[in-house]
Amino acid sequence: MELWKVKGNTFCIDTGISYIPFYMINERDIILLDTGWAQADRVGLEGIFEENGYQVVGILCSHAHVDHMGNCQYFKEKYQCVVAMSELEALLCSSPVNLKVYYSSQTLAQVKKNLGHMICKADIRIPKDQEKIQIAGVEFRILHTPGHSPAHICVVTPDDVAYLGDTLVSRDVMEPAKLPYEYILKEALKSNDKLLELGCSKYIVAHKGVYDEIKGLVSENRKLHERNAERVLSLIDHSMTREEIMKTAMEKLKISIRSVSRYLTLERMLNTYVEYLHDTGRLDLIMEDGFLKYRVK
Ligand SMILES: [Zn+2]
Repeated sequence: MELWKVKGNTFCIDTGISYIPFYMINERDIILLDTGWAQADRVGLEGIFEENGYQVVGILCSHAHVDHMGNCQYFKEKYQCVVAMSELEALLCSSPVNLKVYYSSQTLAQVKKNLGHMICKADIRIPKDQEKIQIAGVEFRILHTPGHSPAHICVVTPDDVAYLGDTLVSRDVMEPAKLPYEYILKEALKSNDKLLELGCSKYIVAHKGVYDEIKGLVSENRKLHERNAERVLSLIDHSMTREEIMKTAMEKLKISIRSVSRYLTLERMLNTYVEYLHDTGRLDLIMEDGFLKYRVK
């Protein structure tokens, strides 16, 4: 893992697959913006904190995905720090049953086994109309950007550096990402446009880049999603159930699935686009032979 200064007191850790920013209050105390994967990142992050004599005094979490809050509760207990999240996602992460509301394709037992480490008692819940927050005496601006997750937030540090979490993907990630996941793509695209109002001096994208301006990237992300939506639309050549669309996607996009978890992941990604096509009036949902099917309008 590498560590470097982005601007002023805002720094970034490169975990290999993502950037985790942090704000330095003084030589010892830091506020983390997201906490990475539990398995892949915990030891590396702890190593960096130990090496540099850092004490985590606060965590500001962009959204409740396993690669962003994998160590939230662990660091909260280890460093006795405060955790802040959007109100809705704090509620989702407050118990296994609540988490299942969001991860509904998994059984409660699977949620406990696979995602139990995401359960976290947030100390500060940020309502959707609140645009500033104080943590350990430091004020951060909050931009609410729902879409990628139900209540995703972007955070602007006092150095005028915006951490965009997963609101956008960087150019490096665009090509290999066959179908990026969004909880509600139509809302995510509205949130992407909101980013243009930020007017910050630097922007950090979790997966994975630092930019001086993001106008071009916002438009490239929109094009990527529209292109993917068209690809999914082209798979539907007759009225099809969701499972038939999945099967056709695996064949035509040459995606091989050998495990239940990979199947569920692909299903979530594909649903992003099927629902978007339905939301934007390009697909109809009909009943045919006792099955729910999608048909091109
Ligand atoms: Zn995410």
